[in-house]
Amino acid sequence: MALIVQKYGGTSVGSIERIRNVAERVAKFKMLGHQVVVVVSAMSGETNRLIALAKEINKEPDPRELDVLVSTGEQITIALLAMALKDLGLKAKSYTGWQIPMHTDGAFNKARLESIEETAIRADLGSGHVVVVAGFQGIDSANNITTLGRGGSDTTGVALAAALHADECQIYTDVDGVYTTDPRIVPEARKLNTVTFEEMLELASLGSKVLQIRSVEFAGKYKVKLRVLSSFEDEGEGTLITFEEDSMEQPVISGIAFNRDEAKLTILGVPDKPGVAGHILAPIADANIDVDMIVQNVGHDGTTDFSFTVHRSEMQKALEVLGMVKSAIGAREVIGDDKIAKVSLVGVGMRTHAGVASRMFKALAGENINIQMISTSEIKISVVVDDKYMELAVRTLHQAFELENETAAKAAGN
Ligand code: ASP
Ligand code: MG
Repeated sequence: MALIVQKYGGTSVGSIERIRNVAERVAKFKMLGHQVVVVVSAMSGETNRLIALAKEINKEPDPRELDVLVSTGEQITIALLAMALKDLGLKAKSYTGWQIPMHTDGAFNKARLESIEETAIRADLGSGHVVVVAGFQGIDSANNITTLGRGGSDTTGVALAAALHADECQIYTDVDGVYTTDPRIVPEARKLNTVTFEEMLELASLGSKVLQIRSVEFAGKYKVKLRVLSSFEDEGEGTLITFEEDSMEQPVISGIAFNRDEAKLTILGVPDKPGVAGHILAPIADANIDVDMIVQNVGHDGTTDFSFTVHRSEMQKALEVLGMVKSAIGAREVIGDDKIAKVSLVGVGMRTHAGVASRMFKALAGENINIQMISTSEIKISVVVDDKYMELAVRTLHQAFELENETAAKAAGN
């Protein structure tokens, strides 16, 4: 007998028929003698619908009330799923976040889970119930309802699995696992049987939308055995998120992530002297703007150019800050460009294999794709390219690293 936490996303509970399918899947696990805790998202589109309603009242809805509102989406699906389970003759009980309670801090709309009360869950499991928990929500120390940020049900699932020391946390979604890249862009993209937790962390933060990043962080911290699967298929092992020390043979590159979330800011003609990077970035930090990639060119004639990227939604704000910085440090010009995309290769095998970067750059050059910025970590290389070449870049790299072919991807130095 195992204790399994299953999380079903919005499309998996998007209609009554699908909710019934989920109930049947849960029943199969119960039949095998397992204890099951189920976490659900709201029906697909519901959270967006609720946010849109709030915005009809005010473009910037009150954060506390917004959480009261959007948390209702999951309250609907837990009740419906519990009913469907009972309809199959199972014992089931639904809980909202505050009923558990799932304790969070008080940051409305992006709260962090702090602790989980296990007593009720354990008692229900002990008496043979399926416990159905609303994802994405909790309660703060002042009894306010909070939510965990978009996609937060993943984190609810993983956190519950960690707290209950579950044998496995299964994340059911509308794809059958984690792919080498988005199959809508590269039809040959291959499902990965395993991906390491560190790679998943990079992929999630670099734009792959399969798992909420915080859920991956949780899984890493508490060593939760995490699996991504399709709720629309009966067969299939999905993708298991492994810990590097447990996995035998790793491909050099596991996947390619991409996003159009960033914008590039460049200050031209910056005096090339000590302290200048700090002068530029300190006011950006003071304005609470997160900086991702940074490039400073080699100086000539006593000046240099300095570029960095920020989230696209913060480009205007960053431009205003840089306008002031420009006069203060005597720079020539400030340019903002939101027609960029970031494309990243991710793989723990990079630690032990040379030549990945040169192969990447050569492949992009072969298609005449200009690289505007580069940043690297031990297990990833990201480049910024012109927005309109993003898909071409992803396809080109997928081919260059033969990611469609498992054996080739695994071959050393490949
Ligand atoms: N319903 C929430 C959202 O749409 C949480 C989730 O689905 O994970 O973001
Ligand atoms: Mg999701």
